[in-house]
Amino acid sequence: MADLSLRNVKKIYDNTVVAVQSFNLEIADKEFIVLVGPSGCGKSTTLRMVAGLEEISEGEIYIAGRKVNTVPPKDRDIAMVFQNYALYPHMTVYDNIAYGLKLRKFPKRVIDQKVREAAEILDITELLKRKPKALSGGQRQRVAIGRAIVREPQVFLMDEPLSNLDAKLRNQMRSEIIKLRQRINTTFIYVTHDQTEAMTLGDRIVIMKEGFVQQVGTPQEVFRHPANLFVAGFIGSPQMNTFAARLVREGERYFVELEGARVELSEEKRARLLAGDVQSQEVILGVRPEHIFLTEADNAVPAQVDVSEMMGSAVHIHVSACGRDVVIVVPVSEEGQSQEAMDTGTPLRFIFRGSAAHVFHQETGRNLEYPAPDPVPEEAPPAPAEPETEPAAEEPAPPAEEPAKVPAPAAAGAEPPSDLGDPFAEDS
Ligand code: ADP
Repeated sequence: MADLSLRNVKKIYDNTVVAVQSFNLEIADKEFIVLVGPSGCGKSTTLRMVAGLEEISEGEIYIAGRKVNTVPPKDRDIAMVFQNYALYPHMTVYDNIAYGLKLRKFPKRVIDQKVREAAEILDITELLKRKPKALSGGQRQRVAIGRAIVREPQVFLMDEPLSNLDAKLRNQMRSEIIKLRQRINTTFIYVTHDQTEAMTLGDRIVIMKEGFVQQVGTPQEVFRHPANLFVAGFIGSPQMNTFAARLVREGERYFVELEGARVELSEEKRARLLAGDVQSQEVILGVRPEHIFLTEADNAVPAQVDVSEMMGSAVHIHVSACGRDVVIVVPVSEEGQSQEAMDTGTPLRFIFRGSAAHVFHQETGRNLEYPAPDPVPEEAPPAPAEPETEPAAEEPAPPAEEPAKVPAPAAAGAEPPSDLGDPFAEDS
């Protein structure tokens, strides 16, 4: 159990690749934080700086009030689970879980108790005598988590722990992690590129792009109030639809105009836009597929069906409207009535509510409900909500290999390198 503080953290690899910039985050004790974003956005690097596996180029990291910039991994009181299950193929499950404690010279009795408790939590008691090669992928990952649990770390770090599993197992392990979290009650930082994992696991989500934090918020906040177009497109499935539209201010009221439709924005949005004194302008309008509905009304957007897909509980209707592809999700009622597949070319009309319309700045992509950041002086750190104005790393990224200095226990089944070690154990 510990709180964490990351202050203006930056990572530059080899004096060229800027992997993480201006990373600021206060993490509360026992909070579950998920770092999410596309491959290469700096998630793992951030996690590895917290773990001490990667040097911090600038800024400070505090764990439980202690600055840890130069503290070696084993003295940070953390445990980490990697994507590649860190199991020793020649040891039983029991010995794999016990290994770190043995290195730390815990008494046998204590080790036995901790291993059995962890096995109980993870439902692998039956497997304690097996070797890793006799386990399924999901079981191996549980053992890897077991090794981390017995350490009772202050902070639990997980780097894409489920991405080697097939879809079904991944869903199952995701709920296991939710249960695990309730039972071990420590601070978690979890890295994933999967927005569903992020939304279901995180108390708060940190969305990253090209080394910059785009938004930090609860799953609800980032879904309902995306700070910019990138977050809007990344969070939510199917993706939010976007249109070139016009925002019109009439006194203290706001409307969006899109082809034949004119929709007044909700009270909540009106208040936010007024607070920022937002004026009429061309915008990018975002509406989630599940917030669009079909209508016979005149005040609506005309469209033509391209394909309709029956997904069971909903029909995804792909239409052409306003010169682009638009997805509409129509729930299927319990009786299964209506939503027959719609023929290609069928004309229809759709509309959305003013509470579901997101308006983004046409050039920067910033959500206009958020105040514009103050102008950034030349040398100052960049504002997180305006990534488009920031230069991306100029050098091409090197191949995304696991850096050599990471002590990487082999995937189960493979022969481990002779220097196989545990970076968080005393004697590694
Ligand atoms: P993510 O976890 O989001 O996929 P990473 O943190 O692994 O992203 O990488 C961020 C950026 O840093 C990428 O451009 C990646 O290629 C680069 N990078 C990662 N590790 C190294 C390294 N050891 N040396 C040089 N560049 C690296």
